[in-house]
Amino acid sequence: MDTVAFIDALTHDEGVARAVRLFTDTFGEQPDGVWSAPGRVNLIGEHTDYNAGLCLPIALPHRTFVALKARKDTTARVVSDISPNSVAQADLKGLQAGGVEGWSAYPIGVAWALRETGFTQVQGFDAAFASCVPLGSGLSSSAAMTCSVALALDDVYGLGFGASDAGRVTLITAAMASENDMAGASTGGLDQNASMRCIAGHALLLDCRPELTPLENVSQQPFDLEGLGLELLVVDTQAPHQLNDGQYAQRRAMCDDAARILGVASLRVSADSIARAADPFQALNETLDALPDATMKRRVRHVITEIERVRSFVHAFAQHDIVAAGQLFNASHDSLAADYEVTVPELDAAVDVARSNGAYGARMTGGGFGGSIIALVDRGRSQEIAQRIADEFAARGFHAPRALAAVASDSARREA
Ligand code: ADP
Ligand code: MG
Repeated sequence: MDTVAFIDALTHDEGVARAVRLFTDTFGEQPDGVWSAPGRVNLIGEHTDYNAGLCLPIALPHRTFVALKARKDTTARVVSDISPNSVAQADLKGLQAGGVEGWSAYPIGVAWALRETGFTQVQGFDAAFASCVPLGSGLSSSAAMTCSVALALDDVYGLGFGASDAGRVTLITAAMASENDMAGASTGGLDQNASMRCIAGHALLLDCRPELTPLENVSQQPFDLEGLGLELLVVDTQAPHQLNDGQYAQRRAMCDDAARILGVASLRVSADSIARAADPFQALNETLDALPDATMKRRVRHVITEIERVRSFVHAFAQHDIVAAGQLFNASHDSLAADYEVTVPELDAAVDVARSNGAYGARMTGGGFGGSIIALVDRGRSQEIAQRIADEFAARGFHAPRALAAVASDSARREA
């Protein structure tokens, strides 16, 4: 059997050196600086962000580094170490939503979005990316890319938003607009908030109600696994992750329809009134009874119970009740599999193997339809459990999975 590969995070020195080298090789001069932003794993609270719900991401130690230089004109040129010989280019002047094709829509869309918001001092730029965040694995390489560029542009064009948590919300909005409107990849904001606002050693409890101010919508929850003798194993199943094929948009649209039928602004409103009811179980059933079809009932049951699981997880973890926290991971996955129907056989198999090999709990993380799982395990057991998953995948003819060690890390920052 092949030994399962662990993806190491780039160190500060490696990330800076690789991004600068690609920049100078490509553009023949020195960048203005180097910035980086992390990928993330969401601990719990899946498909809740676009329902104004709760979610709980940590930033990964795995980051995307960008070496960037401002230009005097409105040209944007970008290159990435995934294909170091091809430079993509666009003119920001006159650019329309959807006007850039391919991966370069993500970084160029950030500058476009800032300009559309009225920050017309943002001009063109040259940028080179070096990343260790796996692409399309549900670990948010897209937000790592857009947030690294947003912070870099903020810095070189003196916008002044990057220095404060509240200011970063403006950059998050631009990063989201780039993904939604330029890349055409629907996103609810979890990923960009995680990449811009997480603190090392903490999970970010993010409340996605739109009426909350940036000062009100996050709370930093201590998340020190090492101190508890635990590890968080991430396994990228390598099953293709395709949120662009309409499934994500269908789930979102059905949630919006359900909220309309229930006469609420978002499913979060229903979740909160159910949570406050004398008999929440009965209140949930009454809400589901008001919905017209069985599929919609299951989708709504996932969203409402998942929001409550985030609250329960935060409480359990704060009490160091790891068994309860693990059971909530399991319940989240089971709800995503049976009610929200966003898992695939690889995700279910990886979760099953982790659970039957001693994990306190395991669940898919990210949007689903492929991507990664997370498992809460005793310290020192990640390698072995990842190997068991790899062996099971080999036996079932799945792609070889890859693993990462998730330690709660810092948000986007300037590196050099
Ligand atoms: P995820 O964010 O979970 O990794 P997405 O489908 O949202 O998955 O985003 C992946 C896409 O983001 C890639 O297909 C590519 O277009 C773009 N991307 C992200 N990181 C990079 C990178 N380092 N170089 C080039 N493109 C990237
Ligand atoms: Mg993404």
